[in-house]
Amino acid sequence: MNFDFIVIGAGFAGSVIAERIATRLDERVLIIERRDHIGGNAYDFRTEEGIIVHKYGPHIFHTKYKEVWQYLSRFTEWIPYIHRVLAYIDGKKVPLPFNFNSIDMLFSRKVATKFKDKLVENFGYGRKVPILELRKTGDPDLRSLADFIYEKVFLNYTIKQWGVKPEELDPSVTARVPVSISYDDRYFNDPFQGIPKEGYTKIFERMLESNENICIELNVDCKEVLEITEEGILFDGKPFKGTLIYTGPIDYLFDYRFGRLPYRTLDFEFEKLEQEYYQERAVVNYPNDFDYTRITEYKHFNGVKVEKTIIAKEFPRECSQGDEPYYPFPNRKFKEIYKRYELLANKIENLILIGRLADYRYYNMDDVVKKSLDVFERRVI
Ligand code: FAD
Ligand code: UDP
Repeated sequence: MNFDFIVIGAGFAGSVIAERIATRLDERVLIIERRDHIGGNAYDFRTEEGIIVHKYGPHIFHTKYKEVWQYLSRFTEWIPYIHRVLAYIDGKKVPLPFNFNSIDMLFSRKVATKFKDKLVENFGYGRKVPILELRKTGDPDLRSLADFIYEKVFLNYTIKQWGVKPEELDPSVTARVPVSISYDDRYFNDPFQGIPKEGYTKIFERMLESNENICIELNVDCKEVLEITEEGILFDGKPFKGTLIYTGPIDYLFDYRFGRLPYRTLDFEFEKLEQEYYQERAVVNYPNDFDYTRITEYKHFNGVKVEKTIIAKEFPRECSQGDEPYYPFPNRKFKEIYKRYELLANKIENLILIGRLADYRYYNMDDVVKKSLDVFERRVI
């Protein structure tokens, strides 16, 4: 069968654009997905106990983009959920992002008051200050607080997660979890936040499987059917003149010709426990203890009342061939290599790249949905 649109990857990037093409343009789309399921890294499933587990780590939806929220709300209802994380520091579980509650829990009343007053004086109440910015402060008291937070929250967690110190990464990485100059302990500040009522996979099923214009081939790596040559794109050995939308790793598409772009991967250790709850919140971080970075207890997300619980520990490591590339490595050196691949891709008129792997950017889900919706309007219609 002939298709004018081929999409590689059935994560948010590929699924949203495929849905738009199929629904708005009423065109047929072929999706090729390497894994045996749709949903990309947002894939989840319901266990026999009724707990929805996110196979590739905890996914909390949050966005400032109303159009993204409205678009996804066509495919799901939401459970209102505000993400509040704890970090295990000096034997205590304190709220993260580091905020006035955390200061109160870790310091004597007198010292805590001094720190809070000075933070407000220097930055203003309500501000969110990235740790690398806080460390540049000239005030000796604030500097000692900044060093404390850096060492207890960021240094060892970042070394576990990325294999390097915070300063060796793009500052936007640690700025994802800024110090909060208030009692605001929400992990995200976006106006729209929630967990899909029946899980993420249901969103993808409604987007893709109920649409007759969409054909999905699972368990197929794109290289089995596609080839990028000097002359252009070949599909099943023949020139492909339609539009190819690629959401996999960009270096893989071009056979690593400028070298491999590094990724971090994760090993998940899942445990089913014969107890109602394991921890106080959905996510508890362990910056300084153990080899894992965090423990997720999934039942907190959908509030299901069952006697057992399921937790997952996350062990980050370097991503080798055959591993899942979860996190693009955010620093300048690799951005330069990425740019060389991007230039190559731009020369192919009927190739569009979108997504965390193809753009090699540390996107959240909403960034990817936004990008797909924008690209559809700008480059497809
Ligand atoms: P993916 O979801 O990776 O989808 C790409 C798809 O392409 C995959 O299904 C892959 O199998 C397929 N593919 C790749 N190569 C090929 C090939 N050669 N041939 C065929 N198919 C191929 N975001 C949030 O907003 N909130 C969160 O709380 C959050 N938590 C996260 C936690 C973890 C541990 C991780 C790793 C990510 C998290 N994210 C979160 C980010 C979120 O997962 C991504 O932004 C989003 O899933 C990216 O969608 P995508 O379609 O670009 O990529
Ligand atoms: N981070 C940290 N300690 C923490 C939480 C986060 O050092 O307890 C740093 C770390 O570098 C991490 C980054 O902040 O990679 C972003 O954290 P986030 O929770 O957003 O990571 P994700 O959920 O994307 O894995």
